[in-house]
Amino acid sequence: MDIIKKKCKVCPIGCELTIIKNQSVPSGYTVSGNSCNRGRDFGIKEITEPSRVLTGRVLLKGGHMSRLPVKTTGVVPKDKIEECLKIFNSTEVFAPIKKGDIVIENILELGVDVVAARKA
Ligand code: SF4
Repeated sequence: MDIIKKKCKVCPIGCELTIIKNQSVPSGYTVSGNSCNRGRDFGIKEITEPSRVLTGRVLLKGGHMSRLPVKTTGVVPKDKIEECLKIFNSTEVFAPIKKGDIVIENILELGVDVVAARKA
C-alpha cells in the first residue's frame, strides 16, 4: 500500500495528512488527518499535480536594499516555477512599497498575483 505523509499548507494550522492510494474511490486517494475539505483537496493535488506558493525577489530601485522579497498569493504548478522565477528576475519595482502591494498581476495567467512580502 502506498502511504504518503504531507503537511497541509493551505492554512497556518498545518494538519499532518496521510494520503493512501485507493483505487475504489473516484480521486484514487484517501486522505486522513485533515480537519477540513481543503486539506483533502490539497493532499490529493500534492500527489497528482504538485504545486507551491512561490517566494523570490525582484529588483528594487530607490529603496534601502537592492532586491525586494515577494511571494505569490496562491499556488503555482511545479512545471511553471522556473518561468515565474525568470519573470521575478526581470521585474523592477520602485520604493516606496507596502507589504502586500501587487508587484506582478496574474502571473502567467495562473490566477495568482505576486505581492511584496515586506515594505521597502
Ligand atoms: S486540513 Fe484544513 S484546517 Fe488543516 S491545515 Fe489544511 S486547510 Fe487548515
